[in-house]
Amino acid sequence: MTKVIDPRLVKISTRTEVDIKRSLPHAALKRIGAWVFLDHFGPTVQVDGMVVAAHPHSGLQTVTWPFAGVVDHRDSVGSSQVIRAGQLNLMTAGRGVAHSEKSQPVGDQLHAVQLWIALPDLERNRDASFEHFGDLPVLELGSLTARIFIGELNGARSPARVFSPLLGAELRLSTGAPATVPLRPDWEYGLLVVRGSALVNGTLVSPDQLAYLEPGEARQLELEATGSDDLLAVLLGGEPFAEQIVMWWNFIGRTAEEIVEMRELWNARDPRFGEVIDEVGGWIPAPDLPNATLRAR
Ligand code: MN
Repeated sequence: MTKVIDPRLVKISTRTEVDIKRSLPHAALKRIGAWVFLDHFGPTVQVDGMVVAAHPHSGLQTVTWPFAGVVDHRDSVGSSQVIRAGQLNLMTAGRGVAHSEKSQPVGDQLHAVQLWIALPDLERNRDASFEHFGDLPVLELGSLTARIFIGELNGARSPARVFSPLLGAELRLSTGAPATVPLRPDWEYGLLVVRGSALVNGTLVSPDQLAYLEPGEARQLELEATGSDDLLAVLLGGEPFAEQIVMWWNFIGRTAEEIVEMRELWNARDPRFGEVIDEVGGWIPAPDLPNATLRAR
């Protein structure tokens, strides 16, 4: 039976107090392959846009995928990149990076997902890097249109470099025209319904919900848009990630000690995270650690 998960609403450290819908990590699901974090932002009008001052990451890659709106990304490896719908920003934090984000007053809506990919142990201390992809492969599967931003589906392959077997694709499907997407039987998958509603292998999934398929559950995704709106969804997949990780704030490590050290380094403005030159100004200090010990999971 397909598991269906409602997101939780969280406030991120923006200067504009916009709610984010978070589907990963979740009490009911910690990750999908190496996808460990899934935030869904908007749709909202740009006057309530997103301004996130400089903050660090380590041990992960960030994936920014907008559906509408324009966001300016700046980071400590010197990137200054505007991103629009259908484009990918992929930032590999490695041992440490800092970045800021600011939505631009263009168009009337801002709508995006941001995801994190856990880096495997052998890759997590690499140097930070950033890549922007303005033109990604589009796959037509019958009535379904898939834009592949990470990994490969039916021969359509994203040029973005990741370090685990993964898939990330935006799916669009009109009502009244069911489609079938082939799946790898040994992978796990999640389908986030962004707009419209869908029957996913016979289970109804409403907007903002994530349908999860465990490894071995299905060899294909039978997808049908129900209701009056066409379906917009994000399909995530991956080989189950075998490593235990400690995830806290913007860091992924392997031990609690490592997280404590990372927090201290960031709050001491350690050069390992570099410096962000932007129009936002300032930086976000790491919050207090929880009283309970951070544990690998
Ligand atoms: Mn970030």
